[in-house]
Amino acid sequence: MKMQIKILATGSKGNCYYISDGVTGLLIECGIRYTDIMRGLDYNVGNINEVLVSHAHKDHSLCAAEMAEMGFEMLMPEETAAALGLTDHPCVALAVPSKQYNVGTFGIVPFPLVHYNTDGSECPCFGYLIASSATREKLLFATDTAYIKNRFRGLTHIMIEVNYIGGMVDCEGIPEVEKRRLKSHMSLETAVQFLESTDLSALKAIYAIHGSETRSDRDEVYRALAPYAAEVVVG
Ligand SMILES: [Zn+2]
Ligand SMILES: [Zn+2]
Repeated sequence: MKMQIKILATGSKGNCYYISDGVTGLLIECGIRYTDIMRGLDYNVGNINEVLVSHAHKDHSLCAAEMAEMGFEMLMPEETAAALGLTDHPCVALAVPSKQYNVGTFGIVPFPLVHYNTDGSECPCFGYLIASSATREKLLFATDTAYIKNRFRGLTHIMIEVNYIGGMVDCEGIPEVEKRRLKSHMSLETAVQFLESTDLSALKAIYAIHGSETRSDRDEVYRALAPYAAEVVVG
């Protein structure tokens, strides 16, 4: 058995990913309409054992409240639950960094990322380290973040934000709010730095996610990441 990763949507218009190890299924992010999630999974929503949400921005959480109401089990940072009005919801577990959550054959460990709101205030946002006891594979999921503080060993799959290419950004000509937005997302250069300083001895696949339509280039991202893994997917 091998880990399966499906990108239902990625980028600023909405994020949603489905992960399965053949036994347990996880939805990561629900930043699109629920009907689009159903369609993206060929209506097999019964295969979703847990929904992980990184942070409260709508492109990651659009139908979170709706899915909690429908009875899907969810895991998210405390501040995210508060922002979505889900703090005391019986289906919502509040993620604590470094604490492990077991869902079927997956062990899930949240860790903090570095993200901001457009007004410059901090936006609590978690990445997730997801290990499968069924396939003995280990997936790192990290978006939206300026950079990744933690280091990990033995990763087999990396889903990482590659939002923009530093060289494609003209720092002179962009408004302050846009600069702030860029500072709270990961560049290709920062993603490569992360890979360079990470144990990649077991790595099989890299998924570059949350790419900008105007400040990135899929071919260039692919070329930059290809040396690091046998399989590179630019979402
Ligand atoms: Zn986002
Ligand atoms: Zn965000």
